[in-house]
Amino acid sequence: MTHHVDVVVIGGGQAGLAAGYHLRRLGLDFVILDAQAEAGGAWQHAWGSLHLFSPAAYSSLPGRPMPVQVGETYPDARHVVAYLADYERRYDLPVRRPVRVKGVHRAGGDGKCLRVETDSGTWLARAVISATGTWWRPFLPAVPGRSGFHGRQLHTVEYRGPRDFAGRRVIVVGGGNSGAQIAADLAYDTELTWVTQRPPRFLPDDIDGRALFDVATARRRALDEGRTDSGGVASLGDIVAVPPVREARDAGLLKASPMFTHLTAHGVVWADGTSAEADAVIWCTGFRPTLSHLAPLQIRGRRGHIPTIGTRAVAEPRLHLLGYGDWTGPASATLIGVGRPARDAAREIAELL
Ligand code: FAD
Repeated sequence: MTHHVDVVVIGGGQAGLAAGYHLRRLGLDFVILDAQAEAGGAWQHAWGSLHLFSPAAYSSLPGRPMPVQVGETYPDARHVVAYLADYERRYDLPVRRPVRVKGVHRAGGDGKCLRVETDSGTWLARAVISATGTWWRPFLPAVPGRSGFHGRQLHTVEYRGPRDFAGRRVIVVGGGNSGAQIAADLAYDTELTWVTQRPPRFLPDDIDGRALFDVATARRRALDEGRTDSGGVASLGDIVAVPPVREARDAGLLKASPMFTHLTAHGVVWADGTSAEADAVIWCTGFRPTLSHLAPLQIRGRRGHIPTIGTRAVAEPRLHLLGYGDWTGPASATLIGVGRPARDAAREIAELL
């Protein structure tokens, strides 16, 4: 069966919902196709102790402020899932799930449509917003010996909590927020080794996601006005000292070692020849954008990104990319930051149509 709509939004996480909010305001006919069975995007797969690095008021999508979570300054992932579920109900967003998009094609004919092939039928759309996130493409670095390690290896996306590792020798790799938070989570009940490529850079304790957003906003303004790029949040540091990270760090439990050179069957070895045995290695080494459904359009650029102006794909004006990171709008991969690029994408599409 083939459906016809103005716009197909691929992905029903926060970015897809923010796009839906603005498409609705502009009176466009659209559908949101989401591969998950339930609302909440990637947040429903987060580990138990994950908390946002900003208070609720700084974690809101357009229109509806995130309510405060009772007893928590920094809401947890379950609270975000409930907020997103409520958001799509409140705005009556037309989300279809589970529907997995397999490929986006140029439709032929007058060239005015894109054809979206899914596991539940075909949609013909005059524009497409891809908002599929990064959680679904975990990145693991090519470290020698990785495949020969006999212990357990997992990525951030598979981490559930410290219970699985009680009393074990665990190596956590990664100096970003995921690495620091998971290391803090494991610091008390495991024999932890935290490994980072360069010495960990903690943000000052009084800086949280609010300040990060302010910096991102200042950067966007500078870029909009043609001023020098201020460097964004990366210039401040990497790790937000959320309360559990701060506590573990202040207790002296978050001392990082440099990156090892290779793995053996039973552990890891550093450049100076020292080694550590391990039962598990947890790779908190980041993500790549989930873009394989766009492969039929053949518009991939360097480093797996798709070249964009704002959110619009340079080589395909009917396609917008939303929420993947700074390359699709400063802070666009955050709850509060995705609203503006979502609005811009919806406006550009309304003009195009
Ligand atoms: P997702 O939530 O991943 O949603 C994309 C949706 O698209 C999913 O439902 C997916 O199933 C679906 N999908 C994928 N492929 C297809 C397909 N082919 N067809 C149909 N559907 C598809 N941000 C903050 O604002 N504050 C924080 O404190 C914060 N902390 C973070 C901590 C961690 C550990 C991580 C990883 C991220 C954090 N972020 C934070 C960043 C950000 O908010 C999330 O990455 C966010 O989940 C991205 O939302 P999204 O809608 O772009 O993608």
